[in-house]
This record gives sequence, C-alpha cells and structure tokens, in this order.
Amino acid sequence: MNGGAPAAAPKPTSLMSDAMMERRGPAVEPREIMQEGDAGLRITWADGHECHFTAAGLRRACPCAQCVNEWTGQRMLKPETIGDALRINDIAIVGRYALNFRWSDGHETGIYSFRLLRELCEQSGQ
Ligand SMILES: [Zn+2]
Repeated sequence: MNGGAPAAAPKPTSLMSDAMMERRGPAVEPREIMQEGDAGLRITWADGHECHFTAAGLRRACPCAQCVNEWTGQRMLKPETIGDALRINDIAIVGRYALNFRWSDGHETGIYSFRLLRELCEQSGQ
C-alpha cells in the first residue's frame, strides 16, 4: 500500500547559491529580444525571466555620458523632458553584451548592457 519512496523527493539544493550565481554569473543573457510595437521592448532571459520595457522608461535611464555625469554618476537627464510618446526607431546589438537604441528624439548614444537592462527590470519590480 504505502510502500516505496515518493517519486519526486525534494532535492536538498541550496536556493541561496542559485540566486547568487544568477547575480554574478553570465546568466544575464537574453534568449529573445522582441520589440513590442514601436514603444515597447520585451526581453526573455536565458533563465526564463521575462522583462517588459517602455521606450520612455528606457530612455530616462540612458547611461550615456550626456545623460549621466561620468565623474559623479549624477543623472543629468531630467526625466520629465522625456515624453511618454517616445518611440524606438531602431535597436542594435553591441558586441553581444549590450543594446543600443535609436530613439525618436534623435538620441542614440546610450549603450545598455544586458546587466543594466536586467537591473532596471528588477528595480521596477518585475
Ligand atoms: Zn543618453
């Protein structure tokens, strides 16, 4: 009747070390990058995590030297100057580690590393 061990015994894996691996390792690799309309972006990561971005949200987080002071790290770009109607004109992959966007406002100097994109996504609570 009740003989034998359950088929799927819980494995004693450490979730902690998995989470740490995820933070440090090269797990921040996108499996799929999809433009959603002309003002949205979806990234599905190698670990299955899915992130949705809006053009305006990404543009406000632009890490380039015009938008962020290289020395102090202070954000020079005022978020309110970026309207929600901003669109993505073009996306290019840079050296397999980052994305470069051409925005409808003409700005195109930001290099968004996959790590940065993943961080932005997690900060926004997704
Ligand atoms: Zn910028």
